[in-house]
Amino acid sequence: MQHPTRTLTVLGATGSIGRSTLDVAARHPGRYRIFALAAHRQADALAELCLRHAPRYAVLGDEAAVPALRARLAAAGATTEVLAGEQALAAVSAHPEVDTVMAAIVGAAGLQPALAAARAGKRVLLANKEALVMAGEVFLRACRDGGASVLPIDSEHNAVFQCLPAGYRAGGAPPGVRRILLTASGGPFRRASAAEMRSATPQQACAHPNWSMGRKISVDSATMMNKGLELIEASYLFGVPESRLEVLVHPQSIVHSLVEYEDGSMLAQLGHPDMRTPIAHALAHPERIDSGVAPLGLAAIGRLDFEAPDSGRFPCLGLAYDALRAAGAAPCVLNAANEEAVAAFLGGGIGFTDIARVVDAVLGALGARAAGADVEHVLEIDREARALARARLARCAA
Ligand code: NDP
Ligand code: MG
Repeated sequence: MQHPTRTLTVLGATGSIGRSTLDVAARHPGRYRIFALAAHRQADALAELCLRHAPRYAVLGDEAAVPALRARLAAAGATTEVLAGEQALAAVSAHPEVDTVMAAIVGAAGLQPALAAARAGKRVLLANKEALVMAGEVFLRACRDGGASVLPIDSEHNAVFQCLPAGYRAGGAPPGVRRILLTASGGPFRRASAAEMRSATPQQACAHPNWSMGRKISVDSATMMNKGLELIEASYLFGVPESRLEVLVHPQSIVHSLVEYEDGSMLAQLGHPDMRTPIAHALAHPERIDSGVAPLGLAAIGRLDFEAPDSGRFPCLGLAYDALRAAGAAPCVLNAANEEAVAAFLGGGIGFTDIARVVDAVLGALGARAAGADVEHVLEIDREARALARARLARCAA
């Protein structure tokens, strides 16, 4: 069967999701054409990907890395054109030749290019959950106005999407759904004592038992803020309030999430903890393609365990529930404070348990504000929350 070629921009190409996306796309030559690859400042890594995938454009967020990328590409005789800066990221996301954009920049930096893709009516493969948490309403409005469709990449949300009726479009409230249950591995500190968590190092926090991911999301998994951000993400994507969202710890990471219907049926999606499965699902939707992931051997796995999360040792989960209940600017404030606190922890400036303390303080101070009505307003709230978080972080470090 002949398939139309999809033309792809991959934002965050050098990252964990970006590389998995290129791995899946390369398994289907002729089906996916790489139009643009974008990263922040890893010029060598981006050059290597350009030589392998021959995109028309390579884009760097940081202009300072442009000479190194140009030199590497010129030495190899590559024809890829190098661009840089926020406007270029938006331009390759909204370009008329592009139909699909993988939004896999980490953190708030991913918001503007994802919005550009949404406004231009692309198929937006959304990995960058922070964009949705900080600007959920603004982002979904841009999708509606631009005629864009959103396909969730986050494994839990992709699982939920797969369990919803055929034809469902993210952003709307699905009929007949009683609850959505997001599974969580529990991260590297699932069984750690409070004292062990206080002295946890970045290396320990990034050593996830099941998933191989970038450092920021790995720390978020260790604090369980990742699951908190995902609750907010699910609430926007699937139009359900906090009261109908639940977190279930499932240490094997085989059941990626569940949807409970009014009649008592519970549907789940299962698979290996390998992001190439949700990526392949979204790339080909509504068709199915090979992702390179091995078949699941349930007999070998033997058992699937579930338990309630421990909100005492993982206060970030409660903070995210608070932010979701408060709505308004609270999710944006939560996200900004968390990004700053995680960066400080990874930089050795604060302890692991200080992350929740700083987020709590910033959320307490700024969380009651009204939601950002447009992207400029959202970015203003984000800046203010970051400034306050930095002041609190400086006190932790002192
Ligand atoms: P990584 O840290 O592995 O990669 C991040 C990517 O973003 C890199 O390509 C990086 O470029 C790029 N980037 C960072 N800042 C900027 C910027 N200012 N401008 C342009 N590009 C930038 O992250 P992951 O792949 O792990 O995660 C990406 C997103 O996907 C996150 O939002 C995460 O929450 C989400 N996600 C990830 C999952 C996973 O399994 N990894 C699972 C579910 C969601 P450079 O290399 O040059 O720094
Ligand atoms: Mg996830």
